[in-house]
Amino acid sequence: MCADFEAPFFRASVFSRSLRDLRSLPGRVRVEQRGRVHWGMTDEAFDFKKTDEEWRRELTSEEYHVLREHGTERAGTSPLNFEKRDGTFRCAGCGQPLFSSDTKFESGTGWPSFWKPLNEQAVSTTTDRSFFMTRTEVHCARCGGHLGHVFPDGPPPSGLRYCMNGIALQFEPDGS
Ligand SMILES: [Zn+2]
Repeated sequence: MCADFEAPFFRASVFSRSLRDLRSLPGRVRVEQRGRVHWGMTDEAFDFKKTDEEWRRELTSEEYHVLREHGTERAGTSPLNFEKRDGTFRCAGCGQPLFSSDTKFESGTGWPSFWKPLNEQAVSTTTDRSFFMTRTEVHCARCGGHLGHVFPDGPPPSGLRYCMNGIALQFEPDGS
């Protein structure tokens, strides 16, 4: 009987602690990878790993803030908003190809937007409940770097809008 009563409380306390962690600890996210769900520092779950010290050393402070602290760049500040050439958008953290120019569209938001990732392996998502909203956070599936969010108001054929921080991406023109 005791256990019956304790179990829901236990789950509730783990849940609320996780939400608190999500707000207070940079990089602490609910990770869904290959069908498994767990809470952890993003570094722990990904194939491409660096220590926090290495990330801080190798990224600019703006890149670090977005990729490793789930920050958001100011709308309209990324040169990639105006990138119209054919090519591939790679993760600024680890270089993994993430999006093709074929799926880029002008969303009018001031952030580079795509209607689908390059392939199923490119990005993963988590549930982000920060700022009193429930949004779907998008990160690089290889290094866990935070990229932006995905919303269900994109153009056909997917109907999705991957709203990305340009600073989390590096553009590689075709043939370069
Ligand atoms: Zn990456």
